[in-house]
Amino acid sequence: MHAPPDESSEPELSPTPEGFTSSAKKVRLLVCDVDGVLTDGRIILDGGNADIKAFSVLDGLGLRMLKTVGIKVGLLTGRKSDVVARRATELDLDFCVQGATYKRPRLEEILAREQVSPEEAAYIGDDIIDLPCLKMVGFPVAVADAHPEVKRVAAYLTRQNGGRGAVRETAELLLQAQGHWQEVLERFFT
Ligand SMILES: [Mg+2]
Repeated sequence: MHAPPDESSEPELSPTPEGFTSSAKKVRLLVCDVDGVLTDGRIILDGGNADIKAFSVLDGLGLRMLKTVGIKVGLLTGRKSDVVARRATELDLDFCVQGATYKRPRLEEILAREQVSPEEAAYIGDDIIDLPCLKMVGFPVAVADAHPEVKRVAAYLTRQNGGRGAVRETAELLLQAQGHWQEVLERFFT
């Protein structure tokens, strides 16, 4: 696991930074778990059948930035809720797969549909249900407050917790690794 390349003062967490950068460079598709990754993991149940979740605008913009350089982005979650579908629509995501009791077969379907190899995929997760997906992709990412087993298999551990910009951090890292950062900055902010 590694510090982002732009902050060399941080301690290196892994002896193979070259491997980390080369796998980040290959990424053409990012799959995000939802609870604990795009949210802080808390699920608020209302009086009816709906969930209430809090998403970070930082993450939303991060996903949109990835789309502008042709990286496909989407969600894969074990739960099912209208708010997640709504968030996916708001962000114009490429896919949103909910109710995946077993995530890996659904990830295989996503990759086949999008014509992306496992090596060209990144997955960001927080809990042990994500392990089969993390072990499958070329660039596995764990959020800062992930389960220790998840951190153990990740190529990159974010500084930010789930729901607090971990996905944005991953997005910026991919953009920087692939040499798109300046271009994206100009596109969005000039
Ligand atoms: Mg989760």
